[in-house]
Amino acid sequence: MKCAVDIEARDVEEMYINIDPIQAGGRLTAEAMKAAISFGDGYSVCDNCRNPPRLDYIRNPPIAQFHADLAAWLNMDAVRVVPGARRGFQAVASTLVEKGDPVILTGLAHYTEFMAVEAAGGIPREIPKDERNHITADAAAEKIEAVIREFSRTPPLLFVDHVDYQFGNVHDIAGIIKVAHQYDVPVLVNGAYTVGIMPIDGKALGADFVVGSGHKSMAAPAPSGLLATTNEHAERVFRTTQAKGDVTGRTFGMKEVEMMGCTLMGVTVVGMMASFPHVKERVQRWETEVAHSQAVTDALLSIEGTKVLSDYPRKHTLTRIDTRESFDKVAERHKKRGFFLASEVKKRGITGVIPGSTKVWKYNTFGLTEKQIRHVGESFIGAARDNGLNIL
Ligand SMILES: *Cc1c(COP(=O)(O)O)cnc(C)c1O
Repeated sequence: MKCAVDIEARDVEEMYINIDPIQAGGRLTAEAMKAAISFGDGYSVCDNCRNPPRLDYIRNPPIAQFHADLAAWLNMDAVRVVPGARRGFQAVASTLVEKGDPVILTGLAHYTEFMAVEAAGGIPREIPKDERNHITADAAAEKIEAVIREFSRTPPLLFVDHVDYQFGNVHDIAGIIKVAHQYDVPVLVNGAYTVGIMPIDGKALGADFVVGSGHKSMAAPAPSGLLATTNEHAERVFRTTQAKGDVTGRTFGMKEVEMMGCTLMGVTVVGMMASFPHVKERVQRWETEVAHSQAVTDALLSIEGTKVLSDYPRKHTLTRIDTRESFDKVAERHKKRGFFLASEVKKRGITGVIPGSTKVWKYNTFGLTEKQIRHVGESFIGAARDNGLNIL
């Protein structure tokens, strides 16, 4: 089947169980797919845009209500939808960071946080991870002290990843924020792997900003995401335009500068909205998701030589595994070399293992059924057994 002459229809999710680390939480619901078809036209949500002419005031479809619902759900005061988590980082950095300011992030920070800091003219300084691959409150305090010594001022912003993309470890966000606030440093919690995946209470964490990714973790089309904040910061980050044309004298009313006026104008916002009831419900089943992650991890660990590099027992569905002493030994002698593993599991109906990787790699079991989880575990064991590895 084709979408157009040279564009094949994508059928990955129909044909395979997909354990790709970045794709698991962004798979659309049936409702979001319907929304994508219905609201596919460019500025489709603008049919009923009235006064003030801004996305978050539109009542049909109920975008205004969606904003209020998102804020309540995250226990934050104000929310805007943004084109990806990265645009949330950018809006905050662009507001709080001046050229030459130090900005703290971590040794596990996502590259998009560095981009946001760079775009604002900030100077990145990383909190190192400890030997357990965690960012601790103590390390955060030490880094803040070091930055104050180096720059003779406190950093205007600290980024921390609730769950990091490298290990899928859950970090002590409340502890880190508590320390940062002792120095009056506002904290942006990067929830790209948590908002829409597990329950989050922004106020309980003490977060100044919570950023989520629609296409990574909220079953929404790309590019989508959200930026949530407190009343204290909303005024600055969501400030309205002061610009005035010198020839025409035009002003632009309620348009918010960091949002470039409006953000998600069609399929993205309506897709997020259509999936939201399902997303709210699924975060309540987080314990089951973690148990599933544990089951697949244990299946892999039953293959002799395999090690898990993430926290164990697992506390998230994203896991980093080390198969240098198991699958990589097979790769050394296999005629398909490193490609054998992806090929072995594909044959069993599983995709998302990067072709060629048999050393250190990641998988994400989020959203799979009990039966699919069992099949994934058995498939890895089958691939190992068929290639002469011992099962413990
Ligand atoms: C995927 C990811 C991002 C980027 O999210 P976008 O919504 O694509 O901008 C940021 N941080 C982390 C930790 C991620 O895993």
